[in-house]
Amino acid sequence: MADSSVRHARVSLEGKPTFIALDAHGAFRTLTGPPWAGGAPAGPERPASALGAAPAWLCPALPSKIIGIGRNYRKHAEELNNEVPAEPLMFLKPPSSLLDPGGTLLLPPESERVDHEGELAVIIGRRARRLTPEQARGAVFGYSVACDVTARDLQTRDKQWTRAKGFDGFCPLGPFVVALDDPGALRIQLSVNGDRRQDGSTRDMIFDVPSLVAYASQALTLEPGDVILTGTPEGVGPLAPGDAVSVCIEGIGVLGFHVAAEAR
Ligand code: ZN
Repeated sequence: MADSSVRHARVSLEGKPTFIALDAHGAFRTLTGPPWAGGAPAGPERPASALGAAPAWLCPALPSKIIGIGRNYRKHAEELNNEVPAEPLMFLKPPSSLLDPGGTLLLPPESERVDHEGELAVIIGRRARRLTPEQARGAVFGYSVACDVTARDLQTRDKQWTRAKGFDGFCPLGPFVVALDDPGALRIQLSVNGDRRQDGSTRDMIFDVPSLVAYASQALTLEPGDVILTGTPEGVGPLAPGDAVSVCIEGIGVLGFHVAAEAR
């Protein structure tokens, strides 16, 4: 696992997508590639100001797959009148659903209710299958911030969740990846236009991170850079054109994005 004082990110630097490692003060070095794929620091340390006043953050991972976990917080399952699952409820979001930090989520005309779900994201660090929960800790590179955007009406109407969870832009992610020894008690908050809508703790997960990683790996080979979304606390609610959304996870960072209507 990487040094926890280091944050990793991907940013458009001089017009080129670039992985970087930042220290606590925002000074950074560019990397030769993704840190979980052997990317090494190259060139001198540069000051935070070299990123500009408004850094063009990109999604910090390029996953082969994004694994979602449904109903992993009791109060969230209850608020939608769902049973708490006996084992993790797994689904996939396509990589094409990723949205860069600061980007604009387009609400598709097919849905009349698109909800926010603020979530802790796990970034996988190495290829792995059939892990035990103990082994799973070693397969995690770090953690990021995500929003599992969901078309709630389509989720109910469709038997599969592919469409409801998979529209373009339905997975804002980033900007930072941070290694943490224990992600088991992190405050997770989501605000819309400054109003707090979700305020929970990862301690209230029904299945903890090592259990989720191990569970997913029984079925799917996990690849470096793959993303696992770990479920959302209660307080999910609809988004509207013009909204500004902010998801904050203690010790990791703040993910912001905007909302607009997609033209038909
Ligand atoms: Zn979710």
